[in-house]
Amino acid sequence: MSRLSGNRRSGSRGVRAMAFVFATALLAGCDRTGTEMVPPDNSDSPPAARPSATGTEPNDTSWFRPRSDERARERAAMVDQIQQVYGLESPTVLKAMRNVPRHWFILPSNQSRAYQDQPLLIGYGQTISQPFIVAYMTDVLKLEPDDKVLEIGTGSGYQAAVLYEFTPHVYTIEIVEPLARRAKQIFHQYGYNRIDARTGDGYKGLPDIAPFDAIIVTCAPDHIPRPLLDQLVVGGRMIIPVGDQWGLQELILVSKQADGSITRESKMPVRFVPLTRE
Ligand code: SAH
Repeated sequence: MSRLSGNRRSGSRGVRAMAFVFATALLAGCDRTGTEMVPPDNSDSPPAARPSATGTEPNDTSWFRPRSDERARERAAMVDQIQQVYGLESPTVLKAMRNVPRHWFILPSNQSRAYQDQPLLIGYGQTISQPFIVAYMTDVLKLEPDDKVLEIGTGSGYQAAVLYEFTPHVYTIEIVEPLARRAKQIFHQYGYNRIDARTGDGYKGLPDIAPFDAIIVTCAPDHIPRPLLDQLVVGGRMIIPVGDQWGLQELILVSKQADGSITRESKMPVRFVPLTRE
């Protein structure tokens, strides 16, 4: 069943006001005419200062990131709203939100609403999250170019594309096969060539690729999945909505400390679609 997720209230780090979240869908036939690819602007990519799960790989800041001027003014207005209404200030996150064309990931029937700060249905009872929530969850992960990041719940593919602005080492899993297929098609069509998109149950993480520097869960389990905790590096961060799968959840920032212990910081109430199991 589809449902909108509304979450409200102010979180930490100066983020204020109300948020509304959603889950995923089918993106058949988005209007992709007039798309222009331009070389990536890496000028403000943060330097990789800490060791990461990608190990000894050299600093890679040169991956191609798709660009389009199409609907750029609407995108800028959306980002201004995120900044002004919620007080989200990270220049790199705001820039990433300005760079990724959200309308590429939206169903034709919702194109007129692509840049409103709201979740939208994407088919199969799923939704694409509200832009503010995408920005907020990205921000708390503090991604650097060498980081390896795992997303559970590919949905439309939009959040993965935003993550790809920060690092080419993006892995994403979707349990609904047609959605996974659709997202892969969009990644291929627009040039998100290095996003590794898989079909399956993300509860188990990706043991063959782990460990991860960061994990983002965009569907709600009623507890933090043990495999995901195990697949975080020391110093790793995970942002995850946990709670009543048909009610409110808490958005929790989980960090793995040097001694292997876990800290949990509750950020704000949210409403995501449930994490389902195979
Ligand atoms: N991040 C998405 C929106 C997420 S909606 C975007 O940017 O559009 C949440 C998604 O999680 C849905 O597509 C749902 O099918 C998926 N999901 C639910 N349970 C899952 C699981 N166990 N493993 C992987 N994906 C799951």
